Amino acid sequence: MRRPVIAGNWKMYKTIPEALEFVRQFKPLVVSVTRCEIIIAPPFTALKQVADRLEGTNVQVASQDVAAEPGPGAFTGEVSATMIKDAGARWAIIGHSERRQLYCETDDSVNAKIRAALGADLNPIVCVGERLEDRDQGRAQMVVDAQITAGMHNLTASEASRIILAYEPVWAIGTGRTATPEIAQEMHWFIRSRLKGMFGEGVSENTRILYGGSAKPENVEGLLNQPDIDGGLVGGGSLDPEIFAKVVHIRESR
Ligand code: PEP
Repeated sequence: MRRPVIAGNWKMYKTIPEALEFVRQFKPLVVSVTRCEIIIAPPFTALKQVADRLEGTNVQVASQDVAAEPGPGAFTGEVSATMIKDAGARWAIIGHSERRQLYCETDDSVNAKIRAALGADLNPIVCVGERLEDRDQGRAQMVVDAQITAGMHNLTASEASRIILAYEPVWAIGTGRTATPEIAQEMHWFIRSRLKGMFGEGVSENTRILYGGSAKPENVEGLLNQPDIDGGLVGGGSLDPEIFAKVVHIRESR
């Protein structure tokens, strides 16, 4: 049985006081949640304080990125996996489409970041997903296949088993357009079959694969009901504690 996960990606939103106010309001809203894992990814500046406030609760913390270099070293502007762990996070989002599109992240850098995270005992949440033109040209599976093959290249099955994957079609992120449950399920099934080919049945069956892309309480139920969708990575819908808690409870009560 795969334990469901709902993760929130705050992107470049929330100052430290805003982040702590979210935590204050959110904690009691999800205190009864036991089946669903909950993860929040604040900006780096708020990571430590948010993690401190959430210590001992059922809400874990992720960073939104991680340096590819294990460090320490002369890498101005980068934050190492060890530093992220030190700030109290257990997870790191890697290869988000905004980083791929706006900051030249490649499958090779994704692979290096996965290694750096695993090396510091930080668990990766690895994002994959096709652009609209890929889907329109019938290349959606080919693109996602290439991202997984190169991004998870040369990992052992035991390393791969520590990864959560997030399928986030680029055309659905922050656009208000959501993939239909059928489109998302088809891709999740495809990803699981690729994991089987690369790492064997155990990893394929046990890996949590999240859907991401304009998910909110009004549209998430059909997606979360699909057999290969194990939860969600939520951007805009995670900024408001009540809305994000609603998404968590929809998955918790399934
Ligand atoms: C995301 O940032 O991972 C995301 C899915 O964003 P949104 O929910 O806003 O589309």
